Amino acid sequence: MRNCAHINLSALSHNLQRVRQLASNASVVAVIKANAYGHGMTEAAEALKDADAFAVATLEEAQWLRQSVPDKNILLLQGLNKKTDLHIVFDLGLDLVVHTEAQIAMLESTATEGSLNVWLKIDTGMHRLGVNPENVAEFYSRLQQSKAVNQIRFMSHFANADDIADTKTAQQLQLFLQITSAMSTEKSIANSAGICGVTDSHLDWVRPGIMLYGVNPFKQGIGADLDLQPVMTFRSRLLCVQHFKAGDTIGYGSTWVCPEDMPVGVVSVGYGDGYPRHARSGTPVLINDRKVPLLGRVSMDMISIDLRGITASAGDEVVLWGDGLPVEEVAASADTIAYELLCKLTRRVQFEYR
Ligand SMILES: *Cc1c(COP(=O)(O)O)cnc(C)c1O
Repeated sequence: MRNCAHINLSALSHNLQRVRQLASNASVVAVIKANAYGHGMTEAAEALKDADAFAVATLEEAQWLRQSVPDKNILLLQGLNKKTDLHIVFDLGLDLVVHTEAQIAMLESTATEGSLNVWLKIDTGMHRLGVNPENVAEFYSRLQQSKAVNQIRFMSHFANADDIADTKTAQQLQLFLQITSAMSTEKSIANSAGICGVTDSHLDWVRPGIMLYGVNPFKQGIGADLDLQPVMTFRSRLLCVQHFKAGDTIGYGSTWVCPEDMPVGVVSVGYGDGYPRHARSGTPVLINDRKVPLLGRVSMDMISIDLRGITASAGDEVVLWGDGLPVEEVAASADTIAYELLCKLTRRVQFEYR
């Protein structure tokens, strides 16, 4: 039996409603890049159809999304990479992030007159994408004069908003507002952490990603703390129950030693399915509504779990994360973030939508 990722579409809609409650005066760009954080972009877009717009990272994602979303605005977060792609952007009616002068030049040099909505991205301290604050006034006026451009908005991105105590977030917000104060243009800076943590940052548009999938965007905590519901539940099965003696070691590298005679379960999931190879001994796994610890190293197709004190037999269902076991807990035990775990399930896993 294949491992399964159950995607709860009503949880997705619920989480969008939470965004609406928290940022009631803002429009919502639902971020569904990377195959909707691994959940399935087409299905996620349908469940999130009340969003005001969608955002994806790449042109390929936008082309794919446009097939199932004929009408809604789709924002291309990486913007245009080469001028020859511009006709695709026009054909599909995409909105573009503009984050370099070269991209502005591409828009200026096209003969097509148009209806292109652009979001000028300003680097307020993330130092990844975005134009330098001192160039904003000039670039804005060039975009205004460009015949291809219709509406212009401003955006920026937080670097540290997942840490509520970090003072950089307020500095970035202040700088963004200061740079854009003279222009009566719509503005956007808040990702999920901004939406949940910094009310002042909501502005005209919010851009939730991870919270739509039920994950707490902060370093600590789980989605339920913010009344978010988990969307993905990743399930596998127990292959067998073994009985080992005190001193026996479990798995590759013999890293875990049985402290006593004990039952050990073998679960049919591993890094070949997208379960994190770096999950430590002790990472929680849910079986028959009980949390039990992972033992030893994660293999490609299997993990071992501690069944001391647990009634379980071959064929029993095992939850790796989702309902009953927050993905945030698993991520913390694997030295990573929930974003990565959700994105990384492989084709071996069957997706079921309900
Ligand atoms: C991915 C992304 C988001 C969403 O971030 P979350 O932390 O998942 O809410 C928002 N804005 C931009 C520009 C992004 O790239």
